[in-house]
Amino acid sequence: MTARDRVNILLVDDQPARLLSYEAILAPLEQNLVRASSGVEALQKLLREEFAVILLDVSMPEMDGFETAAMIHQHPRFERTPIIFVTGHNITDLDALRGYELGAVDYVYVPIVPEILRGKVSVLVELHLKRQELVRANRELEQANAQLALANTTLQAEKTRELEQLNAVLERANAGLAEANRTLAAEVAERLRAEEALRHTHEQLREADRQKDEFLAMLAHELRNPLAPIHSAVELMGVKEIEDPEIRWCRDVIERQTEQLHRLVDDLLDVSRITQGKIKLQSAPLEVAAVISRALETTRPLIDARRHQIAVSAPDDPIWIEGDRTRLTQVVGNLLNNAAKYTPEGGQIRLTVELAGPDALVLIRVADSGTGISGEMLPKVFELFTQVDRTVHQAQGGLGIGLALVRRLVELHGGSVAAHSEGPGKGSEFTVKLPLLRRETAAEPAPATQAAQAPSPTARKVLVVDDNVDAALSLAGLLKVSGNIVETAYDGLQGIDAADRFRPEVIFLDLGMPKLDGFGAASWIRSQPWAEDVLLIAVTGWGQEDVRTRTQQSGFDAHLVKPVNFAKLSRLMDQHRSAGRKSVG
Ligand code: ADP
Repeated sequence: MTARDRVNILLVDDQPARLLSYEAILAPLEQNLVRASSGVEALQKLLREEFAVILLDVSMPEMDGFETAAMIHQHPRFERTPIIFVTGHNITDLDALRGYELGAVDYVYVPIVPEILRGKVSVLVELHLKRQELVRANRELEQANAQLALANTTLQAEKTRELEQLNAVLERANAGLAEANRTLAAEVAERLRAEEALRHTHEQLREADRQKDEFLAMLAHELRNPLAPIHSAVELMGVKEIEDPEIRWCRDVIERQTEQLHRLVDDLLDVSRITQGKIKLQSAPLEVAAVISRALETTRPLIDARRHQIAVSAPDDPIWIEGDRTRLTQVVGNLLNNAAKYTPEGGQIRLTVELAGPDALVLIRVADSGTGISGEMLPKVFELFTQVDRTVHQAQGGLGIGLALVRRLVELHGGSVAAHSEGPGKGSEFTVKLPLLRRETAAEPAPATQAAQAPSPTARKVLVVDDNVDAALSLAGLLKVSGNIVETAYDGLQGIDAADRFRPEVIFLDLGMPKLDGFGAASWIRSQPWAEDVLLIAVTGWGQEDVRTRTQQSGFDAHLVKPVNFAKLSRLMDQHRSAGRKSVG
C-alpha cells in the first residue's frame, strides 16, 4: 500500500501511554495514525484532515469522550465518521446508549485486547475505503453522465443542424416544385389555347372543304349543260359527209377535245359525289374479262394514237367478282389511260389478270414502261389533285383526280389499289386487288349471272400466227378478254397445222415468218374447203401498196399495219360475222 493510499485514524486519549499502545496495536494495519491528546485537539485535527475512524477515550479531563463525539457529529463533514469509544468495564448501559446516540459504532474495553481493537478498526477502515471507492465511482459516474449529457447536447445540436439543412433543402425543392407546377399549369393553359385554335382552324378547313366540294359539284353540273349540245352537234357533223379536209380536221379536233372535256367533267362530278358519299354501286356478279375488254375498248384510241404496244394476259377460266361493271371499267380504264398518257410514244403497256390463292383475290395489274414515279411521290398519287409534275402532266391533260377516284371506287368494292415504281424513267405498275365472288354465290348464280355466263354472242374461234411470240400472245390476250377462244402458232407451218386442226373463224397472219411466210400460209388455208368463209387478216409492219396487192392476191380479206388498232380489228370481225367475208376489207 502506498502512502497515498493510506487512510487516517485518529487516536484520541489524554494518556500518552495509552496512545502509544494504540499505535502499537494498530501499526500492522499500515495506516496513518494521528494522535490527539484532548477533545479540542481532536476537533482541530478533524478540521484539517479526513479520518476513516476515530478511537476516542471516554474519560478525559475537561471535554470527555461523549462531549467530544457530540461536537464531532454536529459538524456535517464528520457526521458519518465512525467512532470507537475506549472505556472501562464499569460503563453503564445508559452511558453506552448515550454513546450510540452520539454516533458511536462500537466500544472497546480496557484492558484492550489488541486483536479485538485491530479487528474493529480494520473493519471500519475497510468500510471507509469502500465508501471512498464508492464516492470515486460515483464521481466517475457523474463525470461520465456529464460527458454523456455533453455528447447528447452536441449530438442534438448536430441533429438539429442536419435537420435544419434538410429542411432548407426541402424548402428549396418545394419552391422548385411550385415553380415547375406553375410552368406546367401555364403550359397546359397554352396547350388548351392551341388546341382550341387548332379545332377552330380545323372547323374552318372543314367548312372550306365542304364549300369546295359544293363548288366542284356545281361547276361540273354547269359545265355539263353546254357540253351536252356541243357533243351532240359534233356527232351530227360526223354523220354528214364533210368534203373539205380542213373542216373535217376541225371537227375531229372538236370531237376529241369535247370527249376529253367530258371525261374531266365526269371525273369532277364523280369525285364530288364520292366525297359526299353519294355514289351507290350497282353491284352484280360480274366476269373480270368483261370489265377488262370494255376498259381496253375505251382506252384503245389513246393507246393506238400514242403507238403503244399492249400485252394482255389473263387465265383461261372465267373469273367472277361482285361489282359495278361501269365503275370497275372506269377503274381499269383510268389506269390504262394513265399508262398511255405517262408513257412516251411507242412504249409498252402490260395488263395482267391473275388469281391470288389464299385470300381469294383477283389481281389486275397495269404496268407501263413510262415516266415512272419517284419514291417520294408514290404514296401521294392516290390523293386528290396530286400531280407529280404539273408541267409534264398538263401537256397530257387531267386534274389529278383519276387515281383518287380509282382508290375510292376500289375501296367501295372491298378491294385495294397500290402503286409501284422503281423511280423516274423506270415505268410504273398499279395493282388492283378485288375479292372474288363468294363460292356459294358463284355456285348458284343469280339470273343476271347466268346470262353473263352464257357463251358470249360475239365469241369466235381465232388463230393468231406470228413468229414474234410476244406480239402473238398479247393480241391473243386482247382477243381472249373480249370473249373469244384463241390459239396461237409461231411460224407458217405451225400456223397451217393449227388452222387445219382448230378450224378457226378468224386467222391473223404475220407476213414475214420462218418456214412458210404469211402469203404461203394464206394461200394454203384459202384452198381448203373448210376455209372458204374464214376471215383472213394480214398483220404486218409493211404497209406499202405492192404488199397490200400481194396480200389481196393471196386470199387475205384485210391488211392491218402494226401496231394494230384493236377497235378496227373488232369492227372487221363484227362486219364479217354479220355480212359474210366478201364484204369486209
Ligand atoms: P391526272 O392523270 O389527271 O393528273 P391521276 O389522279 O390519274 O391524275 O394521277 C395522279 C398523278 O399520278 C398524275 O398526275 C401522274 O403524275 C401520276 N401518275 C399516274 N399514273 C401514272 C403512270 N402510269 N406513270 C407515271 N405517273 C403516273
